Formats: sequence, structure tokens, C-alpha cells
Amino acid sequence: MTKISFSAISIARRQLLKTALMASLTAPFNRTFAADLSGKKILIIGAGMSGLSAARKLDDNGAEVQILEAKPHIGGRLRTDYGLGAPFELGAGWVHGPSANNPITQSAKNIDANLMVTHDASEIIYDQTGNPLTPQQREVIDDNWYDLLALIDDELEIGDTRSLYNAIKTFAPSALKDEGVMWALSAYTEFSKGGSIENISALYHDADEAFDGEDVILTMGYDKILAPLAKGLNIRLSTLVTDIEYGKNGVAIYTNKGLYKADYVICSLPLGILKSADVAFEPPLPKAHKTSINKIGFGSVTKIALKFDQAFWPIDTQYFGVQTTIKGRWNYWLNYRTFSQQNILLGLSMGDYAPIADNMNDADMQADALKVLRDVWGDAVGEVIDMRATHWSLDQHTLGAYSYVAAGCKPKDFAQLAKPIANRLFLAGEHTIFEYAGTLHGAYLSGIRAANQILAL
Ligand SMILES: Cc1cc2nc3c(=O)[nH]c(=O)nc-3n(C[C@H](O)[C@H](O)[C@H](O)COP(=O)(O)OP(=O)(O)OC[C@H]3O[C@@H](n4cnc5c(N)ncnc54)[C@H](O)[C@@H]3O)c2cc1C
Repeated sequence: MTKISFSAISIARRQLLKTALMASLTAPFNRTFAADLSGKKILIIGAGMSGLSAARKLDDNGAEVQILEAKPHIGGRLRTDYGLGAPFELGAGWVHGPSANNPITQSAKNIDANLMVTHDASEIIYDQTGNPLTPQQREVIDDNWYDLLALIDDELEIGDTRSLYNAIKTFAPSALKDEGVMWALSAYTEFSKGGSIENISALYHDADEAFDGEDVILTMGYDKILAPLAKGLNIRLSTLVTDIEYGKNGVAIYTNKGLYKADYVICSLPLGILKSADVAFEPPLPKAHKTSINKIGFGSVTKIALKFDQAFWPIDTQYFGVQTTIKGRWNYWLNYRTFSQQNILLGLSMGDYAPIADNMNDADMQADALKVLRDVWGDAVGEVIDMRATHWSLDQHTLGAYSYVAAGCKPKDFAQLAKPIANRLFLAGEHTIFEYAGTLHGAYLSGIRAANQILAL
């Protein structure tokens, strides 16, 4: 790929684009509302991060809150498995931007969590023949990836509905043949967005907001932050909502455990469930909401944790990148030896390969991931003594990983989902907050926003 230098123009243009779209968003999630809600009944569907933060806020304001959760546990896409001897995070793994104003930083502080910075620069990338790249070659990949995205930002006009892939094909086609850049587009962009570059919007591929600070992991297990949030809340587990009725007299929620009635309902069903229409709304959701639900992207990211009897990889390096010939196939690995005693490598599949991996059974997925490791470390790859895997697009209460701005979708689609419906039904969840979509802090803030909307009535 021809190296394109990152110009001041693109920084200014990015900023302009950001300012324009932020002005169009309305979410008042950072304002504080308080009111006495005693005597008001509020139902919350889903005990993930957004449902819990909304419930906590409303409970603190005196409302009678009940959470209805389909799964037999709380947390939704924040869930930790401790069976490998070190925490395996099935969903959220990192606190992105752990600055003081990130609400998840506060949650981590509340439990005195050990936070470990995962340094992005501590990384070895292996080429398609399994040879490690030099630090200089790695730097070139980073620069080329960054410059390519800056070039796309420069070229696109507001209103462009192309996918990232199609924009690259038009403005820098040689990049599509560059193994290094294609790897970075998958391991960085597709991983961070949870969709494939063939579907991600070129215009909004990085228009969202981020808190400051290098990403951290909670070495004692991420799901430990849930207990203080859920403490004392009335949560009905294994309660599957099937129908949501709302009208001027209140709301009626039908479940496998009977009928629940209340004054208001906050619905934090994941975007995958809203897209599937598995839960019925009466009256149906407004057309504008339905259109936005269809337009916002929802892909998958697959994780596999392989535990070996001994480490055959450089144990002090945080990440290993592998330039697999199939884009997105186990191309990024986290080394557990940098924060635990366990010989675990955590592999990731993203983009179009994630749903393919999701559909493999655990044994096939393990064999598939091992093939990639053997391309790098050959016969040194030892025997797997235990493993864990995720299949998010098959999870019947989620149907995917996290939302992203798909080609043709706009930030205002996320803002649309944040709009109250008949002042009875309020949507929450990571897919209703453009600024922080696809993150745990986004989910938290969306729950606070929905609670504030009720408090402000
Ligand atoms: C693989 C993966 C990696 C991720 N990595 C990160 C990361 O590193 N950092 C980060 O910040 N974020 C990450 N995320 C995103 C983060 O986990 C989510 O944004 C966040 O947890 C979503 O919270 P939520 O409340 O919106 O939805 P959820 O947590 O999905 O909660 C919705 C709840 O609704 C329930 N539900 C569904 N259907 C019904 C029904 N019919 N009746 C009753 N209940 C129902 C579900 O069981 C679920 O508990 C990751 C997600 C995944 C999947």
C-alpha cells in the first residue's frame, strides 16, 4: 500500500464531523435527576449492566422496582467463568478508558479491584507463514492502518452510506491486498466495532466517544462489580418476557412466570432480540424505532480460552497477532501469563468469521484455533488441558455481541432508540447510546438515562 501521510486537514475534518453529529444527539445521560417515586411501580426487562444501573437509580429514588431476567443469573454480557483457574470473561473483558469519569472505574473502585493495564504496544505480529515481524515492520502496519482510515475520513462527504470496505476499494484499493493493513482492519477495527469492514459504516467507523486512559482488566474477575450494583434489588431470574403492552394506564408484561403490571417499563433487551422480534410489543414499536433497530449493526465476536500444561509462547508479551489468510480467524491472542500463573491463551475471532466460529461446536472450534497456533509455533504447541468458548450469536437471549454503526446507519438511529415511547416505555442498553455504543460504560449510562427520563416526567 502507498503510505499516505496523516494530515492536519484530516484531524480538523474528523473534529468537524464529530462536533456536527454530537450536536444532533440529545441523550441527557450525564445530568442528575432526583424525585420521590414512592408509590410508582417500574418494571425493568433485563438484568445486564443497563438494567441494573437503571434499577439502582430508581430504587434509590423510592420507586418500587422489579427486574425480569430470562437467564438464571444477572450480568447479561458481563459474565465471568472461573473454572480455568483464572477468570475467563465471556463478554466484556476490558474497562475501556478507565478515567475517573468512566462509571465502570467507580464500580471497580467500590470493590477494590486489581486493575491491570494491558499495553497495546506489547505485541508480536506473525505473518502468514508464521514468522514474527520486526518492531519496525509492526510500526509500519500501525501507521498504514491509521493513515488509511485518515484518508477515508478525508475523502468522504457527510451523507456517504458506503461500508468501510467499499470506501477503501474506491480510495485506496491497494490496501485490500496489504496483509498487514487487512490484519489491522480486522484485529483492531472489526474487534472494536463487533462487525465486519464489509458492513461497518465508512463515515462513522470511529465517530464515537472514549474515556481517557489505557484499557485495563480486572484480574480478580470483571463480574465482581455486579454485586454492589444489584444489592437489595428485586430481581426475578429465569423470567422470560414474551409480550410488552403499554398504554395510557400503564404497562402489562407477559412472561413464562405470569403477568406483571406497572406504571412504566424500561426495556433493556439486546439489539439482537429487538431485531428478531422474539418479544412482541403492543402497540407495535413506532416506525422510526423499528427503522433504527433494522439499521444499526449487530455482529459477533468469538472468544476461545485454551489452557495448556506449559507455555510455548513468549510469556512477557501481552498480545500476539496472527495474519491469518482468512480475515478475522483467530487473529488476535491475549497472553494470560502477563497477569496470572495460568498457561492460557485467549483467542479472538471477529468480523465475518465470528458467526462462522460461533456455529462450530467446542471441539471443532478448538481444532480450528489450534491450527492457527500451529502455523506460528508448530509442534511446540502443547496439549490443551481445558478450554472455554463463547457462541454469542447463538445465545438465545442476546443473538450477537455488540452494536455498531452499519453502512447507511447514522448516530441519530441510536438517539432515536433513546426516545421515550408514550412516556411509558423506555429503551436502554448499549445500542441506545451512540457516544459509547458497544461498551459496558455505555450500557451503564444508558440505564441512568432511562431512569432519568422517568424521574423527569
Ligand atoms: C464478546 C464480547 C466482548 C465485549 N468486550 C467488551 C469490553 O472489553 N469492554 C466493554 O466495555 N464492553 C465489552 N462488551 C460489550 C458489553 O459487554 C455490553 O455493551 C454490555 O454488557 C451490554 O449491557 P446491556 O445491559 O446493554 O445488555 P445485556 O448485558 O445483554 O443485558 C440484557 C439482558 O436482557 C436479558 N434478556 C434477553 N431477552 C430477555 C427476555 N425475553 N426476557 C427477559 N430478559 C431478557 C438478557 O439475558 C440480558 O441479561 C463486550 C461484549 C461481548 C459480547
